[in-house]
Amino acid sequence: MLNDSLPKYFDPRKYATQEVTLEGRLPLRDFSELRELLVSDEGDVSIHLNFKVDEDRRYIAKGSMSTTVQVVCQRCMEGVDCNLEVELALGFVYDEEHANNLPKEYDPVVMTEGEVILADMVEQELILAVPIVAYHEETGCNPVALKYASSADDAPDDETKPNPFSILADLKAKKS
Ligand SMILES: [Zn+2]
Repeated sequence: MLNDSLPKYFDPRKYATQEVTLEGRLPLRDFSELRELLVSDEGDVSIHLNFKVDEDRRYIAKGSMSTTVQVVCQRCMEGVDCNLEVELALGFVYDEEHANNLPKEYDPVVMTEGEVILADMVEQELILAVPIVAYHEETGCNPVALKYASSADDAPDDETKPNPFSILADLKAKKS
């Protein structure tokens, strides 16, 4: 039921004036940019946002979103679950210049023709929240994958030695 309650687009000015509360879920598979950072696009993100006009007449929304994403463990290179709990404080602006005037506590969200695409806004906030490097807990790595990952690391580095075949290829190239 909640799935249907989230709009695709919204007008932040209208929502703020009416003090709308948005609550619902979006599937992770809808976020094409985010998906490239993830091992799996299973699951969804739950969103809770309260819109209002603040004391300085800004259109803002505060709330949170939470989800579990699967990212690559940098030790064993297998997927590891990562819980994201993101506090949101968004300020809706007309352009970049307007964004620069926004107090630091707000993340600027630019309105295009007075509207915001909800999924794009949520995706950008999620991308910022995904850790750049992630690891399993100390004993959580897949032992087989771990062995493979570390033996690949210990392999002699061929890149530093000139490859005789490439030298030959270079000579051939110079002759012709
Ligand atoms: Zn691991």
